[in-house]
Amino acid sequence: MRDFDYEAPTSLADAVGLLAKNNGNARPLAGGTDLIDHVRTGRLSADLIVDLKKIPELMALELNEQGLRLGAAVPCYQIYGHPGIVEKYSAITDSSNIIGGMQIQNRASVGGNLANAGAAADSTPALIALEAIVVIAGPDGTREIPVDEFCTGPGQNVLEQGEIIVELRFPPRPSHSGSHYRRFIPRNEMDIAVVGVAASVVLDESGENFVSVRIGLGAVAAKPFYAQEASEILAGQPVNDESIQKAAAAARAVIHPITDMRGTEEFRNHVTGVLTERVIKKAVERARG
Ligand SMILES: Cc1cc2nc3c(=O)[nH]c(=O)nc-3n(C[C@H](O)[C@H](O)[C@H](O)COP(=O)(O)OP(=O)(O)OC[C@H]3O[C@@H](n4cnc5c(N)ncnc54)[C@H](O)[C@@H]3O)c2cc1C
Repeated sequence: MRDFDYEAPTSLADAVGLLAKNNGNARPLAGGTDLIDHVRTGRLSADLIVDLKKIPELMALELNEQGLRLGAAVPCYQIYGHPGIVEKYSAITDSSNIIGGMQIQNRASVGGNLANAGAAADSTPALIALEAIVVIAGPDGTREIPVDEFCTGPGQNVLEQGEIIVELRFPPRPSHSGSHYRRFIPRNEMDIAVVGVAASVVLDESGENFVSVRIGLGAVAAKPFYAQEASEILAGQPVNDESIQKAAAAARAVIHPITDMRGTEEFRNHVTGVLTERVIKKAVERARG
């Protein structure tokens, strides 16, 4: 591996300043579980690595009536170890809990998982289902975008040179809401999703009808995405097998899966339907309490 410089700034302004210099060859580091491998294997080059874990905004983890603030560099174990997040934002704890193994989860962040922009990234469908807003800081100031607009293709995202994700902001969870993320992998653990599905549901007071639903899909297109039609089809519908099967069919209709060593296009199509049904049902179970 080629030598590089290392800085660990303690303020957001200093981090942005360091990243904006170095002609685009400074790389932000959160957990390093993707970055170090990419630099070591030559997929990415770096003259300077800027460690983000000493910046308070990047390590923020706040849950209150305004919703959830999740700093981009917070490691997975802190997310699924937070009882309030487990209860209210379950889909994000489901995904944090299965990214790699325990050693990876001690370092890896949701911000790094998102910035890496992998089609099969496990946390991104959950962020989409839970309507996260991505807060970005850079040399020209701060901006916010909905998470479903962040990834633009495999390994590609909207960040300009010198920009970093500061945090993910989630709206407060309504009453009678629940969420879930599940993936299919050929092995029991430590594998890449063949299909990943997240769903967030809001039910009416009776718990028998959907008010709204958001479904995020991963590993079945060039980037994780919001399955809009499959989500909207359920609004106002009764919670039953028939309506959930319709949503699963709508999810299958909008995917563009590939065939690779983990599964064929046809298999991914089938699994998308099965997982969408199961994930919605689990989210409903959680919404009913
Ligand atoms: C053994 C192993 C198992 C794994 N298993 C899984 C798995 O099951 N599911 C899964 O989805 N992934 C998995 N991964 C991939 C990786 O662990 C995740 O993508 C992880 O969430 C990355 O987070 P990180 O904090 O380590 O990111 P880093 O490696 O620090 O960064 C990843 C990329 O994002 C950039 N970056 C980091 N933070 C920011 C920021 N705040 N703003 C802008 N850019 C930023 C970095 O420059 C780099 O390009 C695995 C990796 C390993 C090594």
